[in-house]
Amino acid sequence: MARIVMKFGGTSVAGTERIRRVANIVRAQAAGGNQVAVVVSAMAGETDRLVNFCREANPLYDPAEYDVVVASGEQVTAGLLALTLQAMGCRARSWLGWQLPVRTFSAHANARVGDIEAERLLAAMAEGEIAVIPGFQGVSDEQRITTMGRGGSDTSAVAIAAALKADRCDIYTDVDGVYTTDPRIVARARKIKHIAFEEMLELASVGAKVLQTRSVSLAMKHDVRVQVLSSFVDDGAPPADSLPGTMIVSEAEMQKLLEEGQVERQTVTGIAHDKNEARVVLTRVPDKPGAVAQIFTPLGDAGINVDMIIQNVGRDKGETDVTFTVPQAELARAQALLEDKREAIGFNRLITDARVAKISVVGMGMKSHAGVAATMFKSLADRGINVQAISTSEIKVSVLIDEDETELAVRVLHTAYGLDSELAPA
Ligand code: ADP
Ligand code: ASP
Ligand code: MG
Repeated sequence: MARIVMKFGGTSVAGTERIRRVANIVRAQAAGGNQVAVVVSAMAGETDRLVNFCREANPLYDPAEYDVVVASGEQVTAGLLALTLQAMGCRARSWLGWQLPVRTFSAHANARVGDIEAERLLAAMAEGEIAVIPGFQGVSDEQRITTMGRGGSDTSAVAIAAALKADRCDIYTDVDGVYTTDPRIVARARKIKHIAFEEMLELASVGAKVLQTRSVSLAMKHDVRVQVLSSFVDDGAPPADSLPGTMIVSEAEMQKLLEEGQVERQTVTGIAHDKNEARVVLTRVPDKPGAVAQIFTPLGDAGINVDMIIQNVGRDKGETDVTFTVPQAELARAQALLEDKREAIGFNRLITDARVAKISVVGMGMKSHAGVAATMFKSLADRGINVQAISTSEIKVSVLIDEDETELAVRVLHTAYGLDSELAPA
């Protein structure tokens, strides 16, 4: 007998027929004598629809009321799944974020998960009741509903698995694992059977949306066994533990698999893209100490995350151009702040471009292999793709390119690092 948390994403619960299939998968796990808690997302497209309603009602919406609206999508699917399980003769009930409660802190619309009180849930599960929990939502210290940022149901599931000390946290989605890149872009992408936490964390943070970044850091911190697998299976399919998905494992476990010859370490494990950044260029900034601080301090104070930064070599008369990226959603705010500080910073022009994409290659193997960045630049150059900015970390290289070239760049790099599967694309 095991204690299992199962999470189903938006496409997996998009309508009552899909929810019935999910209920079948859940029932099979419970029938094996396991204690089961299920975390569900809103139906596919529902959260976007609710966000748009907020924008229409008030473009400068109050994030606390936004949370009241957008948290409702998960409440609907939790209730529907409990009803469907009951119709199948299973004991099941829903537990909303405030009922557990799932405590969260910090900003509305992007809350971070804190303590989860699991005693009542554990007692109900021990009695054989299936717990159905809406993902994405929690409750603040002020007793208000919060949500955890887009894709937050993954984080809910991992946090609940940690609180329940679950044996496994199975993340069911619309692909059957983590691939070397988004399989919807590259048909020759390969499924990765085991991936280390650090690599998954880096891939998620640079745009592989299969798992929310915070869910991976939580899993790493609490040592939660996370598995990514598909909910799109036949009703009679074998239970999750025998399906080949992707296991997220510790570096120690990875080392063991490498030594046993069960996995082969590639220099590059995966490639991700992110179209949600925007580029800002400030021209003719004075090339003197303190100039960049004048630019980035107000952005930092306003909570705007700056990612890539380049300061061009000073042109003439002690002036320089400074290029950087911010999240697209923050571009208007960043622009207003910088215009406000025009005199203090002393720049000439402010140029922005939202039609950019960040392409990143990630792999633990980079720690011991040189030349990864050079391969990236050469492969892109051979296809005439211009690199506008670069950033690196110990296990990642990212470049900023024209958004229209995203798919081409991802494909070219996937081939260049030897990641293409041998199977012909479907
Ligand atoms: P869910 O609604 O189940 O949470 P998401 O849409 O958030 O699902 O995440 C699954 C999607 O992530 C896949 O459909 C796929 O297009 C995308 N994706 C991006 N990068 C990867 C990757 N490296 N491996 C698998 N899927 C990826
Ligand atoms: N429904 C939320 C979203 O679309 C949370 C999630 O699906 O993980 O972002
Ligand atoms: Mg998701």
